[in-house]
Amino acid sequence: MKCTNCNKGQYLKKKVPYNFLGEKIGIFDALVCDRCQEILFESDASDKIEEQVKKRGLVTTAATSCDSF
Ligand SMILES: [Zn+2]
Repeated sequence: MKCTNCNKGQYLKKKVPYNFLGEKIGIFDALVCDRCQEILFESDASDKIEEQVKKRGLVTTAATSCDSF
């Protein structure tokens, strides 16, 4: 799978630590571009991230594309 950011790199499966608003959320499976380091979380990883974020009472805007802020 080619990187959608640089169009040259290849995504490699890696475990990536995820921080949200300075909180360590955990380490998740992600695809990381070997050229530009673009990180892509797969849908099940995003679900887990969202779950952890909610558990900590943090608010994620990942589920909506609302930009009224
Ligand atoms: Zn890339």
